[in-house]
Amino acid sequence: MSDHDVIIIGSGLGGLICGAMLAAMEGRKVLVLERNADIGGKIMSYGYLHDPDITEEEYKTSLAACGHSKIVYSDPDFSTIVEKHGLFKNYIVDTGWHQMSVGPRNRFAQIAQALGKKIPISPTVGFLYYEDGRFQQISAIAAGWPKESQAERRRVAWETSRISKEESHAYDHVDYDAFLKSLTTDQRVIDYYGLMGCYSAGLNDPRTVSAGEIIRVNNMNNMAGTHFQKGGGGGVVTGGFKHVANIFAEVITENGGEILTSSPVREILVEGNTAVGVRVRTEGGEKELRAPVIINNVPPRHLGRVLPDQYWPLDFRQRIESQFPLAGLLGFMGLREPIEKGDGKAGDFSIRRLPGTEELGVIGEASIFSFEQTSEADPTRAPEGKCLLNTWISLYPKNPFGPSEIDNDDLINTLIDRIYDFFRAQYPQWDDVYEWGYFTRAKDMYGMSISPGQLGDRRLPVVHPTLKNLFHTGDNVAQWGIATDGVGHGACLTVGAVTGKDYTHLLAPWGR
Ligand SMILES: Cc1cc2nc3c(=O)[nH]c(=O)nc-3n(C[C@H](O)[C@H](O)[C@H](O)COP(=O)(O)OP(=O)(O)OC[C@H]3O[C@@H](n4cnc5c(N)ncnc54)[C@H](O)[C@@H]3O)c2cc1C
Repeated sequence: MSDHDVIIIGSGLGGLICGAMLAAMEGRKVLVLERNADIGGKIMSYGYLHDPDITEEEYKTSLAACGHSKIVYSDPDFSTIVEKHGLFKNYIVDTGWHQMSVGPRNRFAQIAQALGKKIPISPTVGFLYYEDGRFQQISAIAAGWPKESQAERRRVAWETSRISKEESHAYDHVDYDAFLKSLTTDQRVIDYYGLMGCYSAGLNDPRTVSAGEIIRVNNMNNMAGTHFQKGGGGGVVTGGFKHVANIFAEVITENGGEILTSSPVREILVEGNTAVGVRVRTEGGEKELRAPVIINNVPPRHLGRVLPDQYWPLDFRQRIESQFPLAGLLGFMGLREPIEKGDGKAGDFSIRRLPGTEELGVIGEASIFSFEQTSEADPTRAPEGKCLLNTWISLYPKNPFGPSEIDNDDLINTLIDRIYDFFRAQYPQWDDVYEWGYFTRAKDMYGMSISPGQLGDRRLPVVHPTLKNLFHTGDNVAQWGIATDGVGHGACLTVGAVTGKDYTHLLAPWGR
């Protein structure tokens, strides 16, 4: 006998979307079991709309739990930022800089809409690229090129946009740099698209970016009619990304489901070749819960203790072992006022070579540095007139591209120095407007880097290969698209596998 139709292990975005669809659209009695004290997994927000009284220690514990993140630098010291500047009373910060592909038209927002909910998204407007000592709209950069390069850029865009989703899979394991070089010899065009591909994937080197995934994501943006520069190619969740988790959780509970936090699953129970339930830790000890469907939202890399290796055939174990996440250095800064006030003030700013990083030996030769004045896109994020600025630099977690960067403390400290050097040199008013800043090292951002060898047919399936009634969901498993947007697609595939119905029909055709 079981009290639930479906047990979901983990309340990350994948688990919550699956739970919401199964509870609201299939009438299934859903139970979500979450290890952490709060729901949301890697999507977490902190600040006055969330828990203004969160303590410094609670914040640090939460950061560690939801992205293996750790504060590595702070100026002034972190307690002063919390107490004097009122980090949690006056601002809203996410786990890190947190945007989504396709802005307000992304796939988790479409699913929420199908469930009768609206996810509030503030689109970012503008994409500015650093050239000749200043940031310029990306179209202005291309407009300044020789005529032949401009024509070549249009031709490459046209050639790429004609590749269908099916055809794009031929490039899943081809790197984006090689793909671009197969289309053109014009270095301006290669660098231009290379930077955009790196920015989308969150990686520093186009040789580590899957061309197939970038082709699909670019074409999806085109088909959705979203445009970085005109607003809508990216965006932030108004009031904090955590709202997304709250909204899907609300659908689950409104439809008779239950979500238990601080409830780590110890083991998936298996009888014969069928998953029949879970053993979960409770306040009083442990208990066994049974259900005819088990959905796992724990990234397969971390699943070992819950589901022993013996249940994965060799090929799948090898794929799990070779998966590596996306990692990075994330900055959070409070300014008296924005430093950029022009038409791109609510946009994304990127520089291909952060000065002083050329000699550091990073993968990709020099670090791409990007920042966003988050509160210019979403004014809820900072007190009126002030500015919350988020920054990002990619750091690779492991070989085969070179030694691990994310564990290299010297490199991280040098990069932080270079970031401050850049801001000081670029904005003469910097020291007058800077109030506070801190950086986190996030070891586990996207569950899987958007790199050749990991995507397409090498993602793990949503249906477990050997155990009946066990399904997987989350950003590591079958889907296409980047991080949170891809998770929405993956959840449709998971629920489709559970029910035998095509749930991708909830998505606009260009996102299926
Ligand atoms: C700093 C940072 C910045 C990011 N920036 C972006 C961005 O700009 N754009 C974007 O789209 N995405 C971004 N992401 C990535 C995005 O947040 C993730 O891709 C997405 O949230 C993953 O959702 P998921 O469901 O796959 O997994 P997760 O969020 O990892 O969820 C897994 C859940 O399982 C739970 N769990 C684990 N073990 C157990 C157990 N034994 N029992 C019960 N529960 C368990 C975990 O606690 C967690 O809640 C960022 C992430 C981070 C950390």
